[in-house]
Amino acid sequence: MRESWHERFAESPDVLKSAGRRQTAVPVLNMEIGGGEFITMAGPCSVETEFQLMATANHVRRAGARILRGGAFKPRSSPYAFQGLGLDGLKMLARARQETGLAIVTEVMSEDDVPLIAEYADILQIGSRSMENYALLEAAARSGRPILLKRGMVATLADLLRSAQCILDYGNTQVILCERGIRTFEPTMRNTFDVAAIVLLKQISHLPVIADPSHAAGYRGLVPPLARIAVAAGADGLLVEVHPNPDKAWSDGEQSLDFAEFDEMMANLAPWIALREQDRVLCEPPDARPIEAVR
Ligand code: PEP
Ligand code: MN
Repeated sequence: MRESWHERFAESPDVLKSAGRRQTAVPVLNMEIGGGEFITMAGPCSVETEFQLMATANHVRRAGARILRGGAFKPRSSPYAFQGLGLDGLKMLARARQETGLAIVTEVMSEDDVPLIAEYADILQIGSRSMENYALLEAAARSGRPILLKRGMVATLADLLRSAQCILDYGNTQVILCERGIRTFEPTMRNTFDVAAIVLLKQISHLPVIADPSHAAGYRGLVPPLARIAVAAGADGLLVEVHPNPDKAWSDGEQSLDFAEFDEMMANLAPWIALREQDRVLCEPPDARPIEAVR
């Protein structure tokens, strides 16, 4: 039996490509995510100190990143782990933005925090653990800020698209989808990087798709090759963890690149990004081609 993706994802009609609907490009400061230019978002897992953040921001900007990531409100697997600096972290992010011109993406975990975080962030990150928190999605959507929606670690693509649809239903079309790895039976990596999800999402949805190889892999040695694969798969950008001294990081040090590793990754990505930007049809079928699922 053949069915179209529109039937398969019937609950999320507005996030799917359709005749006459243009690709969504999310404007952020002086750039567009999903507008053809490949955008790298980089920075520490958590905002820790002024020095750590400023050094990282300055470094990643020089290496070509356009957006600074950093968690001030942290969802941690353990309630006893570092929970983030909160407002102090947001203020540090604002200073980094002012000094470097980088846009800021940072996570919001609770609907109560949306107004505060929306004051400081250019993009609100909805984390994997929050993807189906509909009260949070509503509050984040209503803030009017662009939203980086990370796939839940046990979320199907239908679940992800349903959450994106929910944000659109609340009147916010500025949604960026993020593949960050999912839980499978394979325990070697932190998660299983679902590269086919990137390819499929680019084929069926008009929303920008970015890849987070850091949380997908869990190990820094795997991050640069997975980043290359993400570019080849058609991703519109990357979200990568970078730290001046990963072994001393307060969270996710094992998967964070140091500055030299980030520089090398960016240099090695350049030809892949150039290829992608020259010939986007490599990754995406022309809109005219009917997209069908088979089962
Ligand atoms: C993060 O980006 O630091 C993070 C916590 O990611 P995720 O929600 O994908 O686990
Ligand atoms: Mn992290």
